[in-house]
Parts: sequence; C-alpha cells; structure tokens
Amino acid sequence: MQTESEQLFEESKKYIPGGVNSPVRAFGSVGRSPIFIKKAKGSRIFDEDGREYIDYVCSWGPGILGHAKETVIEAVKAACDDGLTFGAPTRKELEIAELITAHMPSMEMSRMVNSGTEAVMSAIRAARGFTGRDYIVKFKGCYHGHSDGLLVKAGSGVITQTVANSAGVPEGYAKYTLVAEYNDEESVKQLFDAYKGQIAAIIVEPVAANMGVVPPKAGFLEFLRDITQTDGALLIFDEVITGFRLAPGGAQEYFHIKPDLTTLGKIVGGGMPVGTYGGRREIMQCVAPLGEVYQAGTLSGNPIAMTAGIETLKLLDAHPEVYAKLEGKTAGLAQAAREAFGNRVCVNQIGSLMSIFFTDKQVVDMDTAMTSDTKQYAAFFRHMLDHGINLAPSQFEAMFISDAHTEEDIRKTIDVMKEFAHR
Ligand SMILES: *Cc1c(COP(=O)(O)O)cnc(C)c1O
Repeated sequence: MQTESEQLFEESKKYIPGGVNSPVRAFGSVGRSPIFIKKAKGSRIFDEDGREYIDYVCSWGPGILGHAKETVIEAVKAACDDGLTFGAPTRKELEIAELITAHMPSMEMSRMVNSGTEAVMSAIRAARGFTGRDYIVKFKGCYHGHSDGLLVKAGSGVITQTVANSAGVPEGYAKYTLVAEYNDEESVKQLFDAYKGQIAAIIVEPVAANMGVVPPKAGFLEFLRDITQTDGALLIFDEVITGFRLAPGGAQEYFHIKPDLTTLGKIVGGGMPVGTYGGRREIMQCVAPLGEVYQAGTLSGNPIAMTAGIETLKLLDAHPEVYAKLEGKTAGLAQAAREAFGNRVCVNQIGSLMSIFFTDKQVVDMDTAMTSDTKQYAAFFRHMLDHGINLAPSQFEAMFISDAHTEEDIRKTIDVMKEFAHR
C-alpha cells in the first residue's frame, strides 16, 4: 500500500524535476520518499497521511517562532485585504529597513529582494562595483544560494549531489570565485598573496550551517575582518541563517564584528519569500538608481512579505528572552546527543543551531564534515521520522530549534534518539 505522500511524489515526478521545487527536499540521501506536508502549527508539521511530527527543519530557518504564529498570520491576512502588490514604494518597506538598521547598525542602508540567493548575488555585484575588482573568496562547504559564481564547492544540497560544482556554469564565471578552507587562515592568506589588490570581497557564513553546523574558531572572523581591511577588499557576512537567529543582531552582534555588507533571508521574511542586502552607506550608494550597480525587482518589498517580516521581528523584539531559552533548549538537546552516542558522533551547537555528525573527528571544516558516515545518518533519520520526529534529510544540514519547541518536545526527541543510539 502506497501512502498518500508516496502517491503525490509519483505524480509530482512527472511534472517537477525530481518531484521537488528545491533539491534539499528530496529524500534521496536518506533512502526514503519525501513526506508531503499539509499544514503546520507551532513545533509540529502534519503530512498528507495525517501523521504528526516534531519539526526540526522549520522551513530551513525562517520558523524561529514556530509555524503559523498567530500574530503574524493575522497581520498577513489583514494586509491581503489592501492588495497583494503595487510595484510602488510603501510605508512598510521603510518600516522594515529601519528595523534592520536598528538591529544591525552595520547595515546603514539595505535593499529588499525576494530570496537569499538574490541577496547574495546582488551584494557581490555591489562589492565588485564599489571596489572595481572582480575576484571573490568563498569557503568550501559554505552555501550562498544558487547563482552562477557561487555554486563552486558549495554546501547544502550540492554536497549530496554527485558533482562538486554545478553543470551549466561557464568556466569564465567560476574563474573569479576563489575557494578557501573554512577556519583555515593560511588558505585565505595564500589567496590574498596571489591576488593582491584584485579581490573584491570575502563572503562567509559567520557560522557555517550548510555543511552541517560548523562554528568559527576563535579569532577566525577577526582575521577575515583584518585581512580584508588591509587589502582594501570588503567583508560580506552571509547571515541568511544567522540573522535574527544567533542574536537579535545576528552573528555580527554575537561575535562583535562589523562586516561591510550583510545578506539576510529566511527569518527576515517571517515565512514569506524575502531576502535583503545592505551595509555601509557609501557602498550601498553605488546601487541604482543612485549609482551604477544595477539591481531591480518587480515584487521586491512586497507588502504581504514585508508584513510577515515586520511582525516576526517585532515579536522577537518584544520577547528578547527567546534567545536565552533557545540556547538552553538546544544546548540540552546537544548534550543529550553527546551522552547517548558518546564518541561515535561530533555534536556542534551554537545558539539554536546544531548538527549531529556521525564521525569520531572534530568537525571544523568541509573535509572533516565529509568524514561523517552518511549511512548511519540515514538510518538515524529514518528512525527519528518513523517515531514522529522530522530532521533534515541530509547529514550536512542544520537542526533548527524554535521558540515553539517545548521541554516536552525536546524530552521526547531525546528519548527517541536514545532508542536509536542504544539499539
Ligand atoms: C538558504 C541560504 C541562502 C539562499 O537563500 P534562498 O532564499 O534559498 O535563495 C544563502 N545563504 C545562506 C547562508 C543560506 O543558508
């Protein structure tokens, strides 16, 4: 007997490549067929077969308050009555831009776009336009969306594909993307020696979360700040995941580092398709219509999306205690995983982000992440799913903990995890 999800998947595969609208949703690397979601509420998602799961994917990051938060939903419903899109400036776009600058003072000006991919692509263009340089430095295992120049040694869904880089990206594009090792200062120094005065920017996930969660070593981000400043290159923090998650002011607040440009997505859209990029005024003034770096968008700053974002940010502001609670719950879960599995796993955790790597190595970069036993992870994933717990269907993704996860949810998760560890 096929489940409803399996039937839907069979049909979807006829019309949608791989049956999914983003590769990370396929369950290819865990040997299952994806569950089709009907609805979600709080910490729970419900599939088309009526099964309920405690959800640690949280839509890959936006769901910091849990699913379908009442205040946000109500505001969105009300906003719909006034029209879905105008293609003209609105009060809400000013409101969210002010909120962003208030949280991240390094973002003196920002520009709304429709996804994290677009935010990063545009930030890189602004960095190149401002510096007049072509090369960028990224880190192996960091994911910055699917634009041409950034699909080089990328993380997230790219890792579980068979290819390291995407087909369809001309060599000429990838040529300007230089790749360094995360947490390895020497690999960055070598690039800056070889390409002195030619690197427009370093782009980095200040906490890598697309090869699984890999926090920066002490001093690594400071080093990136220094070497870019010395060379006249820019430092871009891709805070699409860490923004509003690690702290109200993101990783830049958490680590006290001021990047030149920042990209945001996920939480800033409160569940709607939003990205934004911003930074120092003199850089952002290079963007059209003020400057010569062209970037535009028909639906950018969409009023419904802005409403979801504004309400989410306001709720977080009204409840600053959320961050300590998230940290506490996540640290508890991480500690329980260490106790259950012992040295068979490496558990990385920071704030409300964590990963359980099935390796006895310390995971500090892509190469050590790749020592993980993905078959073990797949078995773990299936055990958890079969017991009502939804994890990312890949070893190389983060677990996201939300404000809606209760102590009871965490306890149940720990119990199911222990069953797997001790079997
Ligand atoms: C998700 C993600 C992106 C891409 O955002 P999309 O909205 O999926 O295009 C970029 N950077 C990081 C760090 C991300 O996690």
